[in-house]
Amino acid sequence: MSAPTSNTPAADAAKPSNFIRQAIDADLAKGTYAQRRWGGQPGDGPSHAAGAPDPARIRTRFPPEPNGYLHIGHAKSIWLNFSLAQEYGGVCHLRFDDTNPEKEEQEYVDSIREMVRWLGWDHHFEDDAARPGIKQPHEYFASDYFDFMYHAAEYLIEAGHAYVDEQTPEQMRATRGDFGTPGTNSPFRDRTAEENLRLFREMRDGQHADGAMVLRAKIDMASPNINMRDPTIYRIRRATHHNTGDKWCIYPMYTYAHPIEDALEQITHSICTLEFEDQRPFYDWVLERLSEPLTRPDGNTEAGLLNAPPPRQYEFGRLNVGHVITSKRKLRQLVEENHVGGWDDPRMPTLAGLRRRGYTPEALRLFAERSGVTKTGDAWTDYAALDAALRDTLDPIAPRAMAVLEPVKLVIENWAEVFGSADHLEPCEAPVHPHRPEMGQRQFMLGREVWIERTDYEETPPKGFFRLFPGNKVRLKYGYVIECLGAAKDEADCASVVRANLIKDTKSGTPGADSVKVKGVITWVGVADGQPAEVRLYDRLFTEEQPDAGGRDFLTVLNPNSLTTMQAIVEPSLTKASPEERFQFERHGFFVADQHEHVSGQKLVFNRVTGLRDSWGK
Ligand code: ATP
Ligand code: MG
Repeated sequence: MSAPTSNTPAADAAKPSNFIRQAIDADLAKGTYAQRRWGGQPGDGPSHAAGAPDPARIRTRFPPEPNGYLHIGHAKSIWLNFSLAQEYGGVCHLRFDDTNPEKEEQEYVDSIREMVRWLGWDHHFEDDAARPGIKQPHEYFASDYFDFMYHAAEYLIEAGHAYVDEQTPEQMRATRGDFGTPGTNSPFRDRTAEENLRLFREMRDGQHADGAMVLRAKIDMASPNINMRDPTIYRIRRATHHNTGDKWCIYPMYTYAHPIEDALEQITHSICTLEFEDQRPFYDWVLERLSEPLTRPDGNTEAGLLNAPPPRQYEFGRLNVGHVITSKRKLRQLVEENHVGGWDDPRMPTLAGLRRRGYTPEALRLFAERSGVTKTGDAWTDYAALDAALRDTLDPIAPRAMAVLEPVKLVIENWAEVFGSADHLEPCEAPVHPHRPEMGQRQFMLGREVWIERTDYEETPPKGFFRLFPGNKVRLKYGYVIECLGAAKDEADCASVVRANLIKDTKSGTPGADSVKVKGVITWVGVADGQPAEVRLYDRLFTEEQPDAGGRDFLTVLNPNSLTTMQAIVEPSLTKASPEERFQFERHGFFVADQHEHVSGQKLVFNRVTGLRDSWGK
């Protein structure tokens, strides 16, 4: 495939290359990062300088905030960062961005770690090029860098690049200006470095109330980029942190912490979503200031805290999926108000939910890859693309099975006459996979009574209906041709038992199989060896493509039919299914044995991942 010739989203989406790969290619060609050294763990400039040349050609990172469960949008970021590192002989760090003490919990850390590994990047953690043979999880916590961040803030103060501001939040907002109006300087802006240092240490030591003052970067209150108008870099917040406990009562702001985290980890390509584009100048500013040497009033100089070249930030359009909500707040609301069964409800767009629904890591990776990486805007992707990725990856490998979802009994009236006994069972078999003989055969029994789909019988067939109706012949798949005689009805006038006669010498796979031509083939399960199973059919959780568009309350467009539970009968090969094993139920689509509720050999519970083709909205 040739390189993209245009920057349009369509062109990018269709090509394996993208602007981030091009940037990496250019850096590798120029040797931008070739001289870097790696100190074996995150650290400041001197600690890395003392290390060996970095064996990782690039370093990327996936930096989730552990304040919720990962969702399908994160799958894209995970894929992008880990696959780039893998392709280019680099390393990708899993960094928990836990600088905000308030909303973070161990439960989220655990589930994020589990999901990253499930998506297929577990081996990555155990393969540290710097120390062969040593398991080195490239897993880091931003809160481990609090000491450095604090030290860096003092460094900025001493260099005259930061000051303690005692304006109220309202005053700060009012003096920030807006797009058309420059901001105005704080009356506290010209404090001496000594005074700023004293006040900042008082902040750290708990001598001031929450919100009484903040530390701000001293940049330019008239900058056309509002993010450069002396952004806050530290605030006072008395909150217990999940990692550092009550050690700190001041916490760094995200926009200050993030470039530092990247630099300490020697990240080369820091990839984030487009809304951070306007933050890039501040990202660069922080890293430049901290790389510069500091000259103290007494004339002593200190080398910069960080080494060149600094990490660079790249922004791409975030992934949005039709009929899906990814806001953590709204997902929480769905769980807490019991609109779904939990964070891993198979209808949830969380990775835990998608996993339980039966989507595979391969499908999610393919979906992420196909959705493209662009810098021109957010990518809106149809949910059907996820299902297509699932089918494309699962169809070649999923074992087949027959299942009857809406069972009605079919009785073969001439059975005893043909086989000599009403109890006779005729063994039948089918390939586990039609194109993979090495996967073997599945066995099941055809008897006098079988289960068929209720919808396969019509007393008066509509035009084009080739399945069971009085007088018509169809094949029981992998079995015999039968001729329909009619049906007994229940009180509601529905067929309760369908009657048929078997036509001799038409068994599939025998020389006479084609002696009778039929237009219809139906799936079935024997009454003798069929197994009861609970089958859950899922549909979109929302009826609208953009459930929260234009400020609409997304709860008003919940799909009332997003879950249908059926009591099905499945072929005996499925009793051995283990949780999370996936199958193609012939005619019905792809199903997974439920991760939590399916118990092999005892209680069979299958979730439909998706149908055989995209039928939604048709
Ligand atoms: P949310 O808005 O759902 O809370 P977030 O961006 O705040 O998501 P983080 O935990 O901070 O969540 O995200 C970790 C990484 O995942 C970030 O680099 C972020 O850019 C990326 N990410 C989050 N959502 C998406 C998305 N929809 N598409 C692509 N990347 C995403
Ligand atoms: Mg975030």
